[in-house]
Amino acid sequence: MPLRAELYCYFCGHGCGEVLVATSARRPTAEQLRVAYDRVAGNGAPKWEDSGQPICPRCGGQLFLERFEHEVVRKPLRRAS
Ligand SMILES: [Zn+2]
Repeated sequence: MPLRAELYCYFCGHGCGEVLVATSARRPTAEQLRVAYDRVAGNGAPKWEDSGQPICPRCGGQLFLERFEHEVVRKPLRRAS
């Protein structure tokens, strides 16, 4: 089932954009993220070190998994009126 995730740079504030990762694990692996980001070619996508770790395309800093959740457990947000 797809997992919603985004890589985010805490150093310069760059967000790499949200991707859907096909995994059944609780959090995606670096390799799964790489495959997912390869599909969304272009602007803002992370660069990858030889070790397989994602790095920021703007400042070269370490990227963090900002949020991740399974689609199935995602509930619609209720709007306070
Ligand atoms: Zn950065």
